[in-house]
Amino acid sequence: MAAPGEVGEHVGLVSEGDRVVTHYFECKEPGYKGWRWAVTVARASRAKIVTLDEAVLLPGTDALLAPEWVPWSERLRPGDMGPGDLLPTEAEDLRLEPGYSGEDEPLPSSVASEMSEEMADLVDAEDAELTTRPETTRRGSIAALAEELGMRRARVLSRYGLHAAADRWDETFGAKTPMAQAAPASCVTCAFLVPLAGSLRQAFGVCANEFGPADGHVVSLSYGCGGHSEAAVMPKPPKPAPHALDTMQVDEYPLRPARDSGSVPAEPDAPSEDLGHS
Ligand code: SF4
Repeated sequence: MAAPGEVGEHVGLVSEGDRVVTHYFECKEPGYKGWRWAVTVARASRAKIVTLDEAVLLPGTDALLAPEWVPWSERLRPGDMGPGDLLPTEAEDLRLEPGYSGEDEPLPSSVASEMSEEMADLVDAEDAELTTRPETTRRGSIAALAEELGMRRARVLSRYGLHAAADRWDETFGAKTPMAQAAPASCVTCAFLVPLAGSLRQAFGVCANEFGPADGHVVSLSYGCGGHSEAAVMPKPPKPAPHALDTMQVDEYPLRPARDSGSVPAEPDAPSEDLGHS
């Protein structure tokens, strides 16, 4: 099997069983560094001649190997798609399930069927109204409900698809991230959180803070960052203290208080009128 000069020194042997041994030889082929020629030989019971079972080139522990082969359908990674690329979705994609198929529609004579018809009529009426009035579907309207239930789409997200998306989002912008752990408060109380529609709104919203780390991304309600709208309220400018004036009146004091009043003591250094006559 090997060309002349490709088989090197004997490097070891392994006993495979009774009278069966594999001998290993160094491979000198430059493109097969670390590979070894494995030659398995055996001897039948009571036979005197050893026979050759197999010779094959096998990788050793330090052999240079090609990466494991990945099917083309699994090679696409998030972010690989570019402008103009098309990504076909398999018919059996587990993330999706049929929208309104009509398969489980009730019998025409049942009450539920009449209700479905009425609902369909209302949806048609709303559709007609919306086409004349260029406006997005109003929240809470029948058309919005029909859209949410998947009655306007061929396929909708399956339960598995919802869970997979929720896990993915929670991993990137969830409560366990270092940013959320250090945040002063969580997104659920932040003014920049835009709520989602549907069942995912119970746990997620969209951040609309252009200075935040998750602007435009779906964030868990338990995520948070330092850009929380109520995290650092700006201090109000200090209010100057009012003047300490307790009166605006002028108090009048008599120059010579009455001697008999006794309430005001006599001025100690006031000159006595009697001194000049004695
Ligand atoms: S600014 Fe921060 S706390 Fe507010 S919604 Fe965005 S990520 Fe959440």
